[in-house]
Amino acid sequence: MAVTPLMPVYPRSPVRPVRGEGCYLYGEGGETYLDFASGIAVNLLGHGHPHLTKAIQDQAATLIHVSNLYGSPQGEALAQRLVDSTFADTVFFTNSGAEAVECAIKTARRYHHHHGRPEKHTLITFKNAFHGRTLGTISATDQAKLRDGFAPLLPGFTVAEFDNLDAAKAAIDDHTAGFLVEPVQGEGGIRPASQEFMKGLRALADEHDLMLVLDEVQCGVARTGKLYAYEHYGIEPDILASAKGIGGGFPMGACLATEKAAAGMVIGTHGSTYGGGPLAMAAGGAVLDVVNTPEFLERVTRMGDRLRGALEQMIPNHDHLFESVRGLGLMLGIKMKTDSRAFVTYLRDHGLLTVAAGDNVMRVLPPLVIEDSHIAEFVEKLSEAARQYELPQEAA
Ligand SMILES: *Cc1c(COP(=O)(O)O)cnc(C)c1O
Repeated sequence: MAVTPLMPVYPRSPVRPVRGEGCYLYGEGGETYLDFASGIAVNLLGHGHPHLTKAIQDQAATLIHVSNLYGSPQGEALAQRLVDSTFADTVFFTNSGAEAVECAIKTARRYHHHHGRPEKHTLITFKNAFHGRTLGTISATDQAKLRDGFAPLLPGFTVAEFDNLDAAKAAIDDHTAGFLVEPVQGEGGIRPASQEFMKGLRALADEHDLMLVLDEVQCGVARTGKLYAYEHYGIEPDILASAKGIGGGFPMGACLATEKAAAGMVIGTHGSTYGGGPLAMAAGGAVLDVVNTPEFLERVTRMGDRLRGALEQMIPNHDHLFESVRGLGLMLGIKMKTDSRAFVTYLRDHGLLTVAAGDNVMRVLPPLVIEDSHIAEFVEKLSEAARQYELPQEAA
């Protein structure tokens, strides 16, 4: 048999981590990597953070799983904390980002169903968006590489140009249920939406009684220097999908909604065997303990400014490779003049972990607990690698 025991759907790199400590990962053969990928914006507290580790250890020894047949003191406590800290009145816990988006889509459709308008079932989504890999969430994007070979996809999505308010407005029709948008596109290339766009979507949603659904799976949970990125825009969504960083590495997600938006999500309408289990709640609670303080969030902004400043200073020295830096807080991307994927691979061999994204962008997503020394090490090694990097033949 030629197929590998692990279904070969990932082009896995030769990096084979077996241990992590703070901002560093260690490979099978003892290699050291400075981790500015954070498991794709997941390990907010780096690796082996004592508070998160202890919370998971203690909870694992106390109670791991019981199902949603029973009362959940752990889920109630974490939901209350999220409600207290956000726009939301109610929370559904999931195990992943795609499930959080699925719950958000269902909640938006159900809102209109509840009000006797079942024909309003279509979400307006945006070019180059990424919402996950389930059938529903691949149907919500226009990216062929995610969709090819999986037809028939689900109806109920219309794709408009990202950050183009006129396009969003023009896409509204009698079937529109709402908008589904990442305030900062992640996989699409670290593209923050403009103030005008986000405020405009809110206004359109209010005007037409539509749901504004935010996918903050990547940009949420302190990554941008706010607990959720919508806070940068002076607006509030109706529904929000959160995951990745929310568990600090423990698989979990959440769909947050206002009481109004969740009107149709009554008993029996949704569920999950594992969602909101005690172990996940312990992890989520420990992450919030650390990141949801004004001091921590300000620190993310400060470190984001420093990292961005250092990268911007470096760029002119390697302007054959790098074009510009973009992003918010510690969700940064370097727009490259050459293939970002090839460069990310090259950096791995030099002990630096970053993540490629669309639009020839290299994502720089360090743990939120980085120190100045990590920024200095990253920029120094990046600069050194850029000096040595030979442009591939076709780009030279
Ligand atoms: C990663 C991601 C998802 C999917 O999350 P999974 O946990 O992989 O299902 C959805 N939306 C955005 C914006 C993401 O970055």
